[in-house]
Amino acid sequence: GSTHAAPVSPPRASAEVSYENLRHNYSVARAHGELMAVLKAGAYGHGLEAIACFLEQLPADQAPTFLGVASVIEARRLAKAGVSTRIYLLGPTCPFEREEIVYHRWTPSVSNLEEARDFDRLVQSHGGDPLPVHITVDTGMGRGGFLPEQLIEQISELDELPHLSIEGLGSHLPSADEDEDFTKAQFARYDALIEALGPDRFRYLHLSNSAGLLGYHSRYTNLYRPGLMCYGISPLPAHQSSLRPALTLKSRVSLVRSLPAGHGISYGRQTVLQKDTLVATVGIGYGDGYPRELSMTGASVLIRGKRCPLLGRVTMDQIMVDVSQIPDCTSGDEVELFGENILVSEIAQLAGGIPWSILTGITPRVTRVYL
Ligand code: PLP
Repeated sequence: GSTHAAPVSPPRASAEVSYENLRHNYSVARAHGELMAVLKAGAYGHGLEAIACFLEQLPADQAPTFLGVASVIEARRLAKAGVSTRIYLLGPTCPFEREEIVYHRWTPSVSNLEEARDFDRLVQSHGGDPLPVHITVDTGMGRGGFLPEQLIEQISELDELPHLSIEGLGSHLPSADEDEDFTKAQFARYDALIEALGPDRFRYLHLSNSAGLLGYHSRYTNLYRPGLMCYGISPLPAHQSSLRPALTLKSRVSLVRSLPAGHGISYGRQTVLQKDTLVATVGIGYGDGYPRELSMTGASVLIRGKRCPLLGRVTMDQIMVDVSQIPDCTSGDEVELFGENILVSEIAQLAGGIPWSILTGITPRVTRVYL
């Protein structure tokens, strides 16, 4: 056998994540106030542990107060990674998850009395100080929380639970990037509710996601829950220029061929070449999270600074692009699918998705590289 170490090739498809751009976006968000960094769904595809560890290293005046996750699985991964920033569970919890939450003293957001009472009981049986919890109020999202009038009625019962300490009141915006009138009215309703309950009883008041933070104002909120904008994408196009996309999805040309007019390209032969064309095959597909819905939409990729149109359907592992404008295009050339030069927002629009769905759709097969 060979005495040489086995060669290891670099990956074709990679998601390059720029810490510098992340730092910039966090500082834009942090300028508004204290932050809960939203790290659910693998930090929107950027890598849960890596992004959490990056945030923990920020100077104290930049670091987030909470890390927001969607599930106990994500919370557990953060705990295993040794993060010391408080972990917040953004959604309602199932009964079978609560003991683990209490054990680790993660911060739950409770949606009704039953959930609160169950946490109270578990804290009592586990022992220790009262557990800080936040209340979720449903001011229009329709996904969880007390209705405002319910909360006014039941807040005294929550106050009386001896093993919980009500630390915050959160709500969520369903259409801050789509409906300004509704969102303004929702902010007004949230502020009115806070006034009715008394703002001083809560340490943390939070309502805003990225669009809420960038586009709206509340008299009372003092904590913000930005996700998308921290990754450098603005849900409000007018604010895009203040942010820097943190993730660039890249791959490589694997093959370049001249194909004659009349030749079909990819499954279904939906593209038939109108003229002789230089066709590059690129090593990425819907199995990597490059959306199959981009097929036949006029989407393009970037090779050597030039936009090259997609030809035919996206396949599981490969796409074909027209590189006729790059005569010396060759196997191994770098390809940007989206990121710093092609906004994921543009790709999302073509694919009939949203930036959130495209970013979280990048599959584990894609190597994350941190720069
Ligand atoms: N807060 C909650 C409760 C969420 O569910 C989310 C994500 O959808 C966010 C904040 C962050 O939203 P965005 O990524 O739009 O900033």
